[in-house]
Amino acid sequence: MHDLETASRETIAAHQMGRLRAGLARILPHNRFYHEKLSPDGRAFPALESLADLSHLPFTNKRELIADQAAHPPYGSNLTYPLSDYVRLHQTSGTTGHPLKILDTQESWDWWAECWTSIYRAAGVTRDDIVFLAFGFGPFIGFWSAYEGAKRLGALTVPGGGMDSVQRLRAIEDVGATALVCTPSYALRLAEVAQECGMDMRDSTVRVTIHAGEPGASIPATRERIERAWGAQTYDHAGMTEMGAFGFACSQQNGVHVNEGEFIAEILDPHSQRPAADGEVGELVLTNLGRWGCPAIRYRTGDLVRHGGYRCGCGRAFLSLPGGVLGRADDMLIVRGVNVYPSALADVLHRFPDVAEYRIIVTKDGAMDEIAIEAECPPEVTPRIQQELHVALNLRIPVEAVAKDTLPRFELKARRVEDRRGH
Ligand SMILES: [Zn+2]
Repeated sequence: MHDLETASRETIAAHQMGRLRAGLARILPHNRFYHEKLSPDGRAFPALESLADLSHLPFTNKRELIADQAAHPPYGSNLTYPLSDYVRLHQTSGTTGHPLKILDTQESWDWWAECWTSIYRAAGVTRDDIVFLAFGFGPFIGFWSAYEGAKRLGALTVPGGGMDSVQRLRAIEDVGATALVCTPSYALRLAEVAQECGMDMRDSTVRVTIHAGEPGASIPATRERIERAWGAQTYDHAGMTEMGAFGFACSQQNGVHVNEGEFIAEILDPHSQRPAADGEVGELVLTNLGRWGCPAIRYRTGDLVRHGGYRCGCGRAFLSLPGGVLGRADDMLIVRGVNVYPSALADVLHRFPDVAEYRIIVTKDGAMDEIAIEAECPPEVTPRIQQELHVALNLRIPVEAVAKDTLPRFELKARRVEDRRGH
């Protein structure tokens, strides 16, 4: 553990202010996007005396970055250095709109890798581990940074791109991988394929699994299901292409900590922008402190998180987000007046070992959302699922059993919500 992780809040804040000031001094003279945003019409940049003054700076959001790239193709104007200084190009998955292109300099890319070493260390992964990355290495950043981080840690790093699930399982066995990195949905899919092939991953050498890309490893029932299938300890991680690898799970396995050495976190009410108090849910707004080639200042992530304070059983003083990323603000469904997140449904459905896969069907009844669930399970299980859903959410949700292998499986981000509202 780095000293800063257990330091006083004052020390952490002083570190963050120092990093932010130094970064702004590098960005402002050369980065057109932030120069125009933070000093419009040549007005003086607001003085930053303390972290509280951060609230004087405007937010950045994805829409603006996409508009900026459309106005200044192909990379936009959020670049601090000449193009020749950049060594990596990644783009967002585009599941929620137009893909965004993000460039990194060698310095920024090293910073990404360093952020990932915090994730590995907190999960107890060392240079003696063999890390297998079950990920198709393409333009989406996905686990590219996890790959770099594992190398930086000194672990033997095995990229599992360009393989199907069976080949990946054989490779895990073949190299004796001890750490598996992939999305939570794909860890479950791999375990399912293993079972079909007569392999039992509980007997494999994998002892740690690390997940990102979607909520899952912080949803208790989902985490337990992965841990059971792999006979391993499962850790969550949160990150995004525009921002970096900002969250890691500790020994307590209760959500994630924000890596406050490399990021400043604010949790704000999405409408009033009032800061959330301890225990409240709000939108996570982040500022990165080391990616000066393509910075993100007060970036509205659209992720909803719960403020979990600054005390944790692991001894870290970094902000805790119990439950990790709870969901996207725009994923929330309102069913008969009750706020329902897909992650809450996962927490119920993954408790049933008989449910191989499921899908949430959303329809509209007048102005109201209605949901129904299709589950790959024996029909006699559905009444118990309905009952558990009722206990958890106080809603009666119809559950229909469907035949095995009829619902889609996912290698990257799962899309289990099928929206039939027609808007
Ligand atoms: Zn902790």
